[in-house]
Amino acid sequence: ASAFNAAVEAGRALNAYIVETPELALKAADAADAARASGDLKPLSGVPIGMKDLFCTAGVQTTAASHILEGFTPPYESTVSAKLWAAGAGMLGKLNLDQFAMGSSNETSAFGKVISPWRDTSGKDLAPGGSSGGSSAAISARLCPAATGTDTGGSIRQPAAFTGISGIKPTYGRCSRWGIVAFASSLDQAGAMARTVRDNAILLEAMSGFDAKDSTSLDLPVPQWEANLSSNLKGKRIGIPKEYRPDGIDAAVAAQWDRGIAWLKDAGAEITEVSLPHTHYALPTYYIIAPAEASSNLARYDGVRYGQRVLPDGAGLQDMYAATRAAGFGDEVKRRIMIGTYVLSAGYYDAYYTQACKVRTLISRDFEAAWEKCDLLLTPTAPSAAFPLGEKQEDPLAMYLNDVFTVPASLAGLPAMSVPGGLTAGGLPLGLQIIGKPLDEQGVLNAALALE
Ligand code: GLN
Repeated sequence: ASAFNAAVEAGRALNAYIVETPELALKAADAADAARASGDLKPLSGVPIGMKDLFCTAGVQTTAASHILEGFTPPYESTVSAKLWAAGAGMLGKLNLDQFAMGSSNETSAFGKVISPWRDTSGKDLAPGGSSGGSSAAISARLCPAATGTDTGGSIRQPAAFTGISGIKPTYGRCSRWGIVAFASSLDQAGAMARTVRDNAILLEAMSGFDAKDSTSLDLPVPQWEANLSSNLKGKRIGIPKEYRPDGIDAAVAAQWDRGIAWLKDAGAEITEVSLPHTHYALPTYYIIAPAEASSNLARYDGVRYGQRVLPDGAGLQDMYAATRAAGFGDEVKRRIMIGTYVLSAGYYDAYYTQACKVRTLISRDFEAAWEKCDLLLTPTAPSAAFPLGEKQEDPLAMYLNDVFTVPASLAGLPAMSVPGGLTAGGLPLGLQIIGKPLDEQGVLNAALALE
């Protein structure tokens, strides 16, 4: 018992959970026992799952790791979480994240940073990636077998890469966004995170499907991804985009990419070089569109409708808005709201927002042209392994650069997955990214299985 308690305390020290709900996981376990007895097991019967605290969960506090939503208990369940519970899963707790899913290191949470369970030779605490850093840390530390994530510009894939696990963002529209706290609605997608590709396939199958409550939800049946998993890539053409190998690419990242290419060849795939000429514009495009949408989405947090309210003595309505938002949002969220408001303002809309939307189309067309030559793309997930906590915290641009390989697929709405690709000399995990055509989650999962 004392070894168990010590393990629990060591797990808690990572700060992966904002709220623990073991009673809900136990309830699902009891229901699974009953289902087994009556021969009525469901795909996820009894499986305990961590929920990123961006999904509204009925009766359980949902904060988006912000003060402004502290104490907010949704009266309703997100569609994705409702589907998981209907498939028999039980919630272990709400997982920490970057505030409103804005960040790449999980350092912007109002509930404290998450610490990766990984260590390199420096002995420093490392970032678990972000924004789904609670999910990635919890899975890699064995604090849950699987978790939900959301990915707007890489928030499933980059944390998966940093912690040696796998995570998939499906095609935009596969998972309903209803009941997920909105960041950038044209980019936000829910997805799965787990240790194996197979677990990801099972989880994503349970999470996906049409929902009339989300107007961008795809009205298509959910394929049987798990039943059709195969690591035989005979006849598949894998594109290697040359723009993802810039001068000065990290040597370990380039080496694992080459290993990945060799593994896919061994699995029967044909390798071909392709060009995605507008890749260079993806980061600036993303960091205009995402804040623009965020500034609009976050306007609803006014101290009237949700969570915290700050009402200074004798204050009027405008003062109440200002005081609530000043106290309730963290620095990174405020930065995004200001950038977003600026690029959407009357004088700058055309110069920034309209322009970014046009470039987004060019980036999508790059992918469409690539699909003439190949079925899937293989790239590194991130330009480096996990960095020490604190290293980029004061330098937002350095932080944004970490998303360079993940944002293009987000802008194009494509399915993309990160799988472990090996270790650096210092013993830290690196991730490989597979990007697929729209709706080809099966191809993505199969290539990921070949790399696993
Ligand atoms: N790191 C990116 C950002 O800060 C992506 C976040 C996400 O996918 N939610 O915007």
